Amino acid sequence: MRGLQSVDTIGVVGAGTMGSGIAQVAAASGYDVILRDIEQDFIDSGFESIRSSLDRFVTKEAMTESEADDVVDSITGTTELSDLAAADVIVEAALEDMEVKQDIFSDLDDVVPEDVVLATNTSTLSITAIASVTDRPELVVGLHFMNPVPIMDGVELVVGEKTDDDVVQFAHDLAADLGKETWESDDRPGFVTNRILIPWINEGIRAYDEGVASKEDIDRGMKLGTNVPMGPLELADHIGLDICLDASETLHEELGDRYKPAYLLKRKVEAGDLGKKTGTGFYDY
Ligand code: NAD
Repeated sequence: MRGLQSVDTIGVVGAGTMGSGIAQVAAASGYDVILRDIEQDFIDSGFESIRSSLDRFVTKEAMTESEADDVVDSITGTTELSDLAAADVIVEAALEDMEVKQDIFSDLDDVVPEDVVLATNTSTLSITAIASVTDRPELVVGLHFMNPVPIMDGVELVVGEKTDDDVVQFAHDLAADLGKETWESDDRPGFVTNRILIPWINEGIRAYDEGVASKEDIDRGMKLGTNVPMGPLELADHIGLDICLDASETLHEELGDRYKPAYLLKRKVEAGDLGKKTGTGFYDY
């Protein structure tokens, strides 16, 4: 296994909400980053998100203009999988779909040197099943960053059936180097955070769908009543309703009926209203 002291370049797979955030944080922590997506348009919009996030740091005087430029310059976008061969560790943040992730990990296993750790940012899927398609399951670990990555302090570390203890330590150290605190979860559906968060979101959507209160009052009630920064409907829009539905379906399949996705969540996703990222979810943006 390549130790943290020999990590200069971090490869990120997927330039969406999470991948662009992970790339930004890695670059801001002094690493070179290779950011891979399947189409140039997705990479371009990943860079746009990074730019606008950095601009907010500059406006708040948490970073200078030239530091922000350095962050962007440290990230190389690519559509070529083979470019990831130059990375010393990979963090995958593509779609929340087992088939997609297994295809990616199988391809990565062919392309990336055999001593390189492969981490996945999956929210709910089995690390063990993702690792099983590789010849290095002991080097596969869950590094579950929180959204928005540049703001959130924590990373959930998920230990698969075959994940090596040294790889778990490596993941703790890497997260710490990226300025994040960690907690460990066994490789169970939804880990700690989404096992608890996803049913909370679904209950908020059901309460809205069943007319218990307006969406604004559900969110205000949960914020003022329980001291959370976002209510369930706001948070669902922020995460992306498609991501929430994928997570709900995995939990439902694995853990049974108490995790059934809310009907209105499915209907919104069918309509293409995925939350903030499409401009409409439960709210308009
Ligand atoms: P997203 O839809 O914003 O981005 C996914 C990106 O992956 C897209 O740009 C897509 O083109 C790209 N992609 C698809 N197939 C690919 C491939 N074969 N190679 C490279 N790129 C590919 O999704 P997201 O919200 O960034 O979520 C990414 C992952 O992070 C998911 O596993 C999700 O469950 C997890 N996650 C999401 C959140 C959240 O709040 N959105 C939080 C924690 C973890």
